[in-house]
Amino acid sequence: MKNVKNNIKRTVSELSLESRILIITSLVGMLFSFTSAIGNYLLDAGIVPTLATLFMGLLTLYFFYLAYFKKKYILPAYGALFLLTLIFIPLLWIYNGGLSSSVPFFYLFITGLSAILLNKLRYKLILGIQIVVLITLLIIEFYYPDLIIKYHSETAVFIDKAVSLVLISFIMFIMIIKIMKEYHRTIDKLRFAQEKLKKSNDVLYQASITDDLTGLYNRRHIIKLLSGLIERDRQQKGISIVMMDIDHFKKINDTYGHKVGDLVLTKISASIREHFRNTDFIGRIGGEEFLILMPDTKLEVAFNRTENIRKYIEGLKWDYVQLHVTISGGVYDFSEYESCDTVLNKADIALYQAKSSGRNLIKSYHERIFQYTNLS
Ligand code: GH3
Ligand code: MG
Ligand code: MG
Repeated sequence: MKNVKNNIKRTVSELSLESRILIITSLVGMLFSFTSAIGNYLLDAGIVPTLATLFMGLLTLYFFYLAYFKKKYILPAYGALFLLTLIFIPLLWIYNGGLSSSVPFFYLFITGLSAILLNKLRYKLILGIQIVVLITLLIIEFYYPDLIIKYHSETAVFIDKAVSLVLISFIMFIMIIKIMKEYHRTIDKLRFAQEKLKKSNDVLYQASITDDLTGLYNRRHIIKLLSGLIERDRQQKGISIVMMDIDHFKKINDTYGHKVGDLVLTKISASIREHFRNTDFIGRIGGEEFLILMPDTKLEVAFNRTENIRKYIEGLKWDYVQLHVTISGGVYDFSEYESCDTVLNKADIALYQAKSSGRNLIKSYHERIFQYTNLS
């Protein structure tokens, strides 16, 4: 028994929500049609409603078979809804007491069910037909009340309405619960996927702007930041840029190997990071070349800060006694619009001056070259 139940659960859970609702409602509809047939017979409602409900029960059994065993959806969904709308409900309306019976409850239920089952199909068509049929039935009942066959006793009307109301409320409740569950599950899944996507996007973005070895910004990103700063510096508060380069780095590589070279690069990068403010941007633009952007900074401040880092690096102790690492730097500040290439070129010229003047120096592009030179 437990196996059968699990089997059913598994088969049903593989189906779409619409198919599951079709199966559940066809099961309930089948039970309901057969009990209605018996009820109609017992309440003496007449041969037509008794046979109609019996016939509907058999048809629903067939639709259930198609939906559950044959995994068909369109035929049973359309078939059941068209038969209900065009034959079963009008017949019940006329033979089971019209507006003052339980049939309007069914009507409401069936319009709701149509909207759920046919949401991907032509639900507008069936809803239109249902409204036309309903209005026609109401007009018939209003102008020809005698055509409507009512129950013989008040008790029969009461039982009919009470039983149907309870049953239909119950089915609607179950249906809405199922739909809401599926809705929340889908929303949760979507949120989860969205968060995952956002996280992996963040990771990818970080990777795309970072230099692997040093963790500083890569060339592409620091240049992009520079153009952004130039564009944004409308109030012309001034930007200073610094180009830095490790002196004789090739020799370090050649003497101690590439691995030590990498270690030197990492340590120098971390030192540069520590010596600048959080508002400054630091990138590695070449093998052993760095670019620092200092927004809202005048030349003197930028120069002093760069000079400090030069001194700091000069004094760094390394694992190899003979190893002595120094850097040279070129500083340039500007407050009026100049293109990215122009400012980079000017900082590069200052760096070249520092290199050609003996290295371990910071030079400014401007005329007044500061006298902080290497005294060692
Ligand atoms: P200068 O003082 O004129 O700047 O001389 P330099 O030797 O530092 O300059 P050069 O441009 O001749 O050499 C730079 C060297 O940096 C050459 C290259 O092998 C090395 N290099 C570039 N990228 C990396 C890297 O990621 N790791 C290591 N270990 N070395 C690198
Ligand atoms: Mg170098
Ligand atoms: Mg270089």
